[in-house]
Order: sequence, then C-alpha cells, then structure tokens
Amino acid sequence: MALYGVVETGGTKMVCAIVAGPDDIRDEVRFPTTTPEENIPQIIAFLADHHAKTPLTSVGIGSFGPIILDRSLPNYGSVAPTTKPFWSNAPVVAPINAALGIPVGFDLDVTAAALGELTWGAGKDLQHVVYYTVGTGIGAGVIAHGQPLPCMMHPEAGHQRLSRNPQDTFPGNCTFHSDCLEGLAAGPAIEKRWGTKAHLLPADHIAWEFEADYLAQAIMNTVLFVSPQRIILGGGVMEQLHLFPMIRRNVLARLNGYISSTAIVDQIDEYIVPPALGNRAGMLGALVLAMRAAA
Ligand code: ADP
Ligand code: ZN
Repeated sequence: MALYGVVETGGTKMVCAIVAGPDDIRDEVRFPTTTPEENIPQIIAFLADHHAKTPLTSVGIGSFGPIILDRSLPNYGSVAPTTKPFWSNAPVVAPINAALGIPVGFDLDVTAAALGELTWGAGKDLQHVVYYTVGTGIGAGVIAHGQPLPCMMHPEAGHQRLSRNPQDTFPGNCTFHSDCLEGLAAGPAIEKRWGTKAHLLPADHIAWEFEADYLAQAIMNTVLFVSPQRIILGGGVMEQLHLFPMIRRNVLARLNGYISSTAIVDQIDEYIVPPALGNRAGMLGALVLAMRAAA
C-alpha cells in the first residue's frame, strides 16, 4: 500500500503526517512555526525517518501564502516576499525534494483544503468549487475542472474590495489595504472592532450582520467572476453556524434575481455550505497534492 507524507505549514504550527489514505493516518507530529532554518529540517527529519523504514511514494504540502507556484521560475516552491518574519523567499519544495528524492506536490493551504473538499467532502461529484477560509486571515482556493485555477501566482480573494456597511465605523486592519475583505471580516478585525473575542459575541449581535454582509459581497463577486458550482466557507469564524442563513439571504438579496441558475435560486442551502471535512480539509488536501504529484 502506498504511503504519503503530508505537511501543513501554518502561521502558528506545522503539522506533518504519514498517511495511507483519507482515513488511515499512520503517524503525526506538530511543532510551532518558527523559522525556515529550524522548521524545514524538522519536516525533513520526520519524513526521512519514515521514508527510511517504508519508502514514501510522494509528499504533499499545503502552505501559508503567498508562495511561488510558477514552475518556470527558478524559485518555484518557495515562500514569496511576505510580511511574515523570517519566511520571505524561503525555499520549501527544493530542500524536501533534495532530501527525499521523491515527487513533492505544493500549493496554498486554502487550495489544498479546496482539493480535499472536492475529493472527499462538500465538493464531491463537482468540478468547480471555491473554498473560503475565514480565520486569522481570509483566503480562497479556486478549483476549476477539478484543478487549482492555473494562475500567474494564486488568487488573493481575501484582499478584494467591498462596499463598507454604512453603520460600520471600524477603519479595517489590513496592513496593505485597510478595509479589504480580510481587513473588515477576518477574526482579528471582528475582535478589534468590538474589543472582545469573536466567539464571545452573542448570535444576535450586530457584529454578525456586518460579517454576513461582507462575506455575502465576497460570495456575490465570486459567483459573478468564477461561477463555481458550490462555495464552501470554513475557518474559525465560520464555526458561527448562524452566519450561514444570514449570508445566504444577503447573497440572494444582492444578486436580486440576476443569476437564474436553480443552484442559487432554489438550492442556496446546498450552494453555500460549511466544509464536510471540518479541520481535516487541509491535511486531506495535502494528501490530494501528494497523490497528484505521484501520478
Ligand atoms: P487560522 O486562521 O489561524 O488557521 P482559525 O481558522 O481557527 O485559525 O482562525 C482563527 C480566528 O478565528 C481567530 O482570529 C478567532 O477570532 C476566530 N475564531 C475562532 N473560533 C471562533 C468561533 N468559534 N467563533 C468565532 N470566531 C472564531
Ligand atoms: Zn488587504
């Protein structure tokens, strides 16, 4: 049976695992995200140890962004210049590939999550899905014809511009654009606006009206630009499940009948959905990246 190495490089922690299939995790380690000088050797040590005992077929990595995905560039497989300390231009794929000598699949964490949902979760049987994560940041993985959208770099839908809710006086906290989607609607924006942890805000707080409004605008833009068959909303903030009906109503009101597709008009409850894989989407997505790299 084929064994795969899967890696999630996150903003706060790294998760590495050896898996034989979506329900067959053989070993797993986690360590805090520090510097590439420390973390890349830790990842390699874990994978190489297993590879020496039972050869791995390939490795899949879902990474925080921004990353370089253009294979014609010499720095393919590294982190792009970023405000995240220590990680600008850090190579990720090359050292792992050199150490193990097996194929390495690499993509954005949210693209991996989208692939995981497409393969085993809320996007099963579909070809075109978009996965938004609404957490510490906001990002979107865009899958068309079963593949990550071929791109110059990768989508950065978390930084799209929206109309501000007229009652919202919070200036926004994106370092680059102040009041983009992420600056208005990611977890830290909610917490800064209201001065409390997002999970402590009651369901009838106006915070959630703002949140549903901003996410609905992003979804409307997504429907108009990409026309996916389903939009999956994950990440810590979307654990507020009462947001789903609010977002669906807002999307329908904003589209105002313009899109006549029955998937939206009659089946919005199945069009805008939570992830079916929960917090396993990223890990399973990295497994899809590994399997595709091997194929
Ligand atoms: P990350 O984005 O770091 O991978 P999460 O997706 O869990 O992790 O996002 C963390 C953010 O989500 C925090 O900023 C927090 O404000 C928010 N969050 C986490 N859990 C909840 C919850 N149950 N309800 C509302 N917001 C939450
Ligand atoms: Zn921004």
